[in-house]
Amino acid sequence: MTDESTAQETYAPDPKFAEQANGTQEMYAAAEADPEEFWAQQARDRIAWSTDFDQTLDWSNAPFAKWFVGGELNVAHNCVDRHVEAGNGDRVAIHFEGDQGDTRTITYADLQKEVSKTANALASLGVAKGDRVAIYMPMIPETIFTMLACARLGAPHSVIFGGFAADALRTRINDADAKVVVTTDGQWRRGKPAPLKATVDAALAPKDGEADSPVETVLVVNRTGSDVEWVEGRDQWWSDLVDSQSEEHTAEPMDSEHPLFILYTSGTTGKPKGIFHTSGGYLTQCAYTNSVVHDVHPDTDVYWCTADVGWVTGHSYMVYGPLANGATQVVYEGTPDTPHQGRWWEIVQKYKVSVLYTAPTAIRTFMKWGDDIPAKYDLSSLRVLGSVGEPINPEAWRWYREHIGGGTAPIVDTWWQTETGAIMISPLPGVTELEPGSAQKPIPGISAEILDDEGQPLTDPEAVGYLVLTKPWPAMLRGIWGDEERYKETYWSRFGDKYYFAGDGAKYDDKGNIWLLGRVDDVMNVSGHRLSTAEIESALVSHPKVAEAAVVGAADETTGQAVCAFVILREDAKKEADEKGEGDDLVQELRNHVGQEIGPIAKPRQVMIVPELPKTRSGKIMRRLLKDVAENREVGDVTTLADDSVMNLIKDGMTADS
Ligand code: ATP
Ligand code: MG
Repeated sequence: MTDESTAQETYAPDPKFAEQANGTQEMYAAAEADPEEFWAQQARDRIAWSTDFDQTLDWSNAPFAKWFVGGELNVAHNCVDRHVEAGNGDRVAIHFEGDQGDTRTITYADLQKEVSKTANALASLGVAKGDRVAIYMPMIPETIFTMLACARLGAPHSVIFGGFAADALRTRINDADAKVVVTTDGQWRRGKPAPLKATVDAALAPKDGEADSPVETVLVVNRTGSDVEWVEGRDQWWSDLVDSQSEEHTAEPMDSEHPLFILYTSGTTGKPKGIFHTSGGYLTQCAYTNSVVHDVHPDTDVYWCTADVGWVTGHSYMVYGPLANGATQVVYEGTPDTPHQGRWWEIVQKYKVSVLYTAPTAIRTFMKWGDDIPAKYDLSSLRVLGSVGEPINPEAWRWYREHIGGGTAPIVDTWWQTETGAIMISPLPGVTELEPGSAQKPIPGISAEILDDEGQPLTDPEAVGYLVLTKPWPAMLRGIWGDEERYKETYWSRFGDKYYFAGDGAKYDDKGNIWLLGRVDDVMNVSGHRLSTAEIESALVSHPKVAEAAVVGAADETTGQAVCAFVILREDAKKEADEKGEGDDLVQELRNHVGQEIGPIAKPRQVMIVPELPKTRSGKIMRRLLKDVAENREVGDVTTLADDSVMNLIKDGMTADS
């Protein structure tokens, strides 16, 4: 790898921004000097405790952590009631923007009433502290009411993506032994109603050889007015049960370690894991990161996290973090291209969104659609941009800053996982000198290292190793639901029990910044050289005709593994290629481009121009499925795929390879 290919342009913080930034350089020093004291301070400053904690961290039963031991709080009280009590009841909590153009403005005072009614309704169904509630709903206010009502009652929720089919839903409901399922009749998808309750009915139907479903009640919000089947005695309309409840409900304090939720990982690498989170530590780190990383100022900002609520980002940065901070935010039900490709920018303009948090997959899609679309809207309110979910290619980073951020907004590339609960590695806007494509440094309070195969810390720039976390952190998972062994084995055994193994490849650059290189399973070995999928993908995306790329290593008789690339073209390039029929030349051009950017060893054996890539509902590329294609295998488990017709599209269109 040449020096030129990694020499990156950097962006110093703007002094004006720095002056008002919530994050500071001093935080790094304070956290370094005494991490536990630093976290204790965050917990006391940002969270209201009904009983103060007497021990910050109990790690005596490692790797099972206890944070803020002895402390008591109610998470929903922290996210709702205390803001009303502080006189901010009139502040807007949620600007809801529906798929159909319907809107709803919910203040913190409204939120308190809605959450209280929902809590009373769930309690009337017999939901008590410790019971599990499954939530299978679209992005509507009732989903947030339900999550907070569960938190209020101490009943852990399990939110399941509205895109999952009956089998995926059944296994998750049964795994968590849920007593109640909250759902809607249907959900709006691109302007049309799609059934949702029917999937719940199928998931709960008796199945030969399986125990009866644990679910006693299905609570149904009427969202689309679709016809539904009804099971008397089990099913209840939200409007019948919730609307008439009292608007008052007293939130009982819970132990700091009381379970808050279970959430299944997106399943990019295999069978999804039921990741389990608790209360005090989780809320502390969500509130802290939303403040110092997103730089949210609750009294002036309008914040928008575009993640689906069924993903951890929707939990930590649409529900718990911003609401704990008393922020005003946008919640959008629909897709980016309904009814037109400028919908997001129209929303930014309408609400004067100032902080936007989204995923690289969305940014690359907008790049594909063209610069002229965002250019039609006034985006001048945006002052911080965030990215999460996958490495953001430097090219996409620069496009985001230029075309969305007005050429000035700092971008925070945030690395974290369902398991970590909150942001772990990220620049702090106003503090860090930004480097496109790198998540840069652990935030204050977090410690990470990169280890080689033998578990020795790597410091050489450019050497590829494994990302590990070296100290427990407040929002860390407390286990895999019902499977202590799998927790230890998956995360705390690869390098011994002192290191949390994240499963991601990483390297440092010559500035000491961390680059995430994709899943450990995705790091390729070509003729004895380690190559990262992320780097080759970034090289492809840096070509002006490419919008998105996915790279996998396929078994190869001569080289061990060979690089296979799947590429989506930008709209204008695609038109041109179709007109001229220049497919083969373009493939050659892209192979050479990778050769120039990274080195001849990285040149893909095959480049396949495809119309779409297989993605999870959280927008992550599922490389293992592409690997199946590249190795001519039957395609594996597709249950967590957002759209399972994509694999056929890819296979059908694949004849035009190199
Ligand atoms: P599964 O564990 O079931 O395969 P998943 O890992 O895709 O699912 P998540 O917990 O949602 O589910 O995703 C976390 C992963 O996403 C990280 O381990 C990392 O690979 C990737 N990731 C998230 N943010 C970033 C980022 N800013 N840069 C690079 N990679 C990121
Ligand atoms: Mg994972």
